[in-house]
Amino acid sequence: MAVVPEVVFVLGGPGAGKGTQCEKIVETFGYTHLSAGDLLRAERSRKGSEFGTLIEKCIRDGSIVPVEITLALLKKAMEETMAKDPSKNLFLIDGFPRNKDNLEGWQRHMGGKAHVKFVLFFDCSNEVCIDRCMERGKSSGRSDDNRESLIKRIETYLTSTKPIIDSYSVEGKVQRVDAAGAVAEVFAEVKKVFEKK
Ligand code: ADP
Ligand code: AMP
Repeated sequence: MAVVPEVVFVLGGPGAGKGTQCEKIVETFGYTHLSAGDLLRAERSRKGSEFGTLIEKCIRDGSIVPVEITLALLKKAMEETMAKDPSKNLFLIDGFPRNKDNLEGWQRHMGGKAHVKFVLFFDCSNEVCIDRCMERGKSSGRSDDNRESLIKRIETYLTSTKPIIDSYSVEGKVQRVDAAGAVAEVFAEVKKVFEKK
């Protein structure tokens, strides 16, 4: 990649509103949104994928897919975007890095190849996360928007993802946004972050 990708990692609990807010950031600030979960779901459904069964199991269990798979999908998506238009080098990477394995994989493979500007952290309670995912589950068709998967996803978030956010926080790289309010209220906060950055 000749032009260095500029990356914002977007993290928060399941249903915190990452995808919803990323859509608005794309409209307003010209980023490209790459959701690790969406890329994995697309790979799971791709005919001939050797990883389909493993990905589906991880998604249902709320566990984390091995980093090599996720990273290869993210890297390919970034390369394709920039090959089409080299000026499109701003990326929101949503749902990554979700654990230590993700972070170490990123540092190993992308460390010198992309610049992480900051981590955007959508913070809200587990109850809000569960309520929003249960509501989304009425129409999403997602195999993990049910109470059983959600309990595991929250557990994975607390034990694996939150420590990653905390470690970036120590480096002063986290922009925290209160995600409990209405979509427009949350976006007003997000906007301030991007205008400042
Ligand atoms: P994530 O990408 O973090 O899993 P989503 O953006 O898909 O979360 O949001 C989860 C669900 O909650 C969706 O149904 C979405 O419409 C809804 N939602 C997102 N943000 C808010 C908000 N601020 N207030 C109420 N509902 C929201
Ligand atoms: P999401 O769409 O972000 O809620 O992600 C749904 C599911 O996809 C997660 O519960 C994981 O099983 C899987 N997943 C998403 N992002 C990652 C990632 N960075 N690494 C591994 N697995 C992931």
